[in-house]
This record gives sequence, structure tokens and C-alpha cells, in this order.
Amino acid sequence: MSERTRISARARGIRPSATLAVDARAKALVAAGEPVIGFGAGEPDFPTPREIVEAAAAACADPRNHRYTPTAGLPELRAAIAAKTRRDSGFDVAPEQVLVTNGGKHAVANAFLALCDPGDEVLLPAPYWTTYPEAIRLAGAVPVEIPTTVEDGFRVRPEQLDAACTTRTKALVFVSPSNPTGVVYPPEEVRAIGRWAAERGVWVVTDEIYEHITFGGHRFSSLPGLVPEVRDRCLVLNGVAKTYAMTGWRVGWMVGPVDVVEAATNLQSHMTSNVANVSQRAALAALESGLEAVAAMRAAFERRARLMHAGLAAIDGVTCLEPQGAFYCFPDLRGVLGRPVGERTPTTSAELAEALLEVAKVAIVPGEAFGAPGYARLSCALADDRCAEGVERIAAALAR
Ligand code: PMP
Repeated sequence: MSERTRISARARGIRPSATLAVDARAKALVAAGEPVIGFGAGEPDFPTPREIVEAAAAACADPRNHRYTPTAGLPELRAAIAAKTRRDSGFDVAPEQVLVTNGGKHAVANAFLALCDPGDEVLLPAPYWTTYPEAIRLAGAVPVEIPTTVEDGFRVRPEQLDAACTTRTKALVFVSPSNPTGVVYPPEEVRAIGRWAAERGVWVVTDEIYEHITFGGHRFSSLPGLVPEVRDRCLVLNGVAKTYAMTGWRVGWMVGPVDVVEAATNLQSHMTSNVANVSQRAALAALESGLEAVAAMRAAFERRARLMHAGLAAIDGVTCLEPQGAFYCFPDLRGVLGRPVGERTPTTSAELAEALLEVAKVAIVPGEAFGAPGYARLSCALADDRCAEGVERIAAALAR
């Protein structure tokens, strides 16, 4: 008998998270005393607002929170998420349509596990957040990448979706504001994409996690909020991580039709059960606290995004779309590939990221991680002076 493979094909087929890897590498260099500026992390640099932390501390002291909750979440949290969906996404959902998950990332995994069979195709506009193709593959489905570029504003059009659609197409991923591009789709384009999906009978998995972080005149529009026909085939993914600076608390959710939410709950009941009770109490306090804290954080992200964008766009050979939301700059670096950086001459964005870490002590995530070679993602979730210095270092390293 041939030797059995030690690791399953499923696990072997998944790539580790490049964004977490860059962040870990930058943090290790800092711990070793290197003056590294890390633009890798996709998390707000602010502490969780005090009243949320206090609610969690009080919850710790209450033995009721030392027990399991229902798998789908605390009933009051599910009700608060339903109310918040009505307020922010503009459509009515019942608490039974909500599954509380272990962060937004877990909602992403649950969504494809609940929807997809092996061989199903999922349309994935690129650049995409690095977890999407892996979560799709984990479910046995096939990510079908649809490229967009800085020239078309990183926004996919219904004609492109139509050209990529086959009889195997099960779902479309739609993320606006977008990680990594910082793009926010205008409402008429959101409506056109939603109508296309409804006409074609394609499910929409839409990630609204950056809904409250938009800049200038750009505003978030919820796809199922604008297109009622899609709601019976739509999953909304969201969480408290970005809006309330709560990445470490691990609370996200999925909102969708009852049958899919029940199926996902069933899966979750055997994998992770409920989300930590105290974290659910913290998330409830967050949702009840309104949107004041995020307004202050949003203003800081916008200020830094403008500052970084100006610095990056001024580098000869770099093109950068001005961020419209989320907290990332996504420069096109194709024009500087082949230019010497210190002792090296990088020809790909992955090599350029390596060279910048070595020469400029700046960590960026290469576009390869987002299905967009030649580009890179820089997080704006750093203090203003660090943002400015990091971009100056990149400019100096790329100076001819
Ligand atoms: N969706 C998108 C688009 C994200 O950028 C992130 C975080 N990077 C998440 C979901 C998940 O966030 P979390 O698991 O921390 O809630």
C-alpha cells in the first residue's frame, strides 16, 4: 500500500494568510529591535471604546455569562443585529435570520460552506480580500477571478459578470467599501450589479464590514437594501471589528434567508458552538452605543488616507487611487518594478515588498495576496506621523 498523505488535500490546498504573515514578520522585526513601520495590519489602532469594555467587565462577573449561549447567539444580540441591519442596510430582517459568528471571517467561511457544493463557481472580483478565495476553496467550490484595474476604478461591471457566468455559477462576492482597494461603489452601480444577480438567479455574498468608514462624498450602499429582489438569495456578512475597534473580541455575523442561516448554524454547532458569551455582551453594548466612536475613528482614517495617498501618488512611477473608504491605500507599483532598491532590483510586487522591508524598514502587503500582482496594500491604521514617515521612507528608497 502506498504511504498515506499525512495532510489532507483540503488543508494542503489552502494558502496561509499573507496579510497576517506580513504583520507577524514586521512585529517580529520590531521585537528584535528593528525600526520597522508596519503597514500590514488590517485593524484599527484605537482601543475599544471604554463603555464597551466596561460592559464586558461587568459581564465577566455575572455567572450567567460563564455558560453556553444558543449556537446562533444571544437572543438580544440577534435582535440588536436585526435592528442595526434595518438602520444601516435599509431592509427588514427577523432575529431568526441572524447567526452570530466568531468574527466576520468565520461568517465568510460559514457562508460558502452553507451555500456551495464541490465544483460550484463563485465570481470573485479582484483585487479581493485574501481570505475569499481560500474560504471558497475550503467549501470545495471554485473561485472565478474577475480582474479590475486602477484604470477602471477597481469596480466590476455587470457585463464582466455576465461574461464569467456559467451554469455552475452559484454566487457572487460583493465587497464595498473594499479591502484592499478602498473603493466605494456608487448606488447606481450597486443597483445594477444586484439586478444582474437577481435576473441570473446568482446568490450574492456581500461583505458590509467597512460600511461606516467612508470618505469625502462617498457613502456606503447596501446591495440587498437597494435591490429587494435579491434578498431571498443574499447573505450579508458583517461584524464589530472595524466599526468599534474590536478585532480581538471576535464577533461577526451573517444575515440571510432562514434556511441558509439554519444550515450554517447547524454547521457551527459542531465546529465552534456559540461565540464567547462575554464577547457577545461586548458586541451588544457596542451596537447599543450608537455611532459616535466610529465617527472620530473615521475622521482619523480619512486624514491619514489623504496624507498617505498624496505621498504615494507623488512618487515617480506610482499611481494611486484616492481611498474612498475602508482604511487602505492600494498603489499601482508596476511603474517602479525593475528600478533598483538598495542592492536589489525587484521585478514583482512581492520582491519589491521584500526589498522595502530590508532597505526602508517598511512592511507592505504585496498585491499577489489580493489577486493583483504589481500593486500593494498599505493600511492607514497607524498614527499620523508613522504614516508620513513610512511613505517618506518608501519614496526615498524608490528615488532614482
Ligand atoms: N471582511 C473583510 C473585507 C475584512 O477586511 C475583514 C478583516 N480584515 C473581515 C471581513 C473579517 O474581520 P473579523 O474576522 O476580524 O471580524
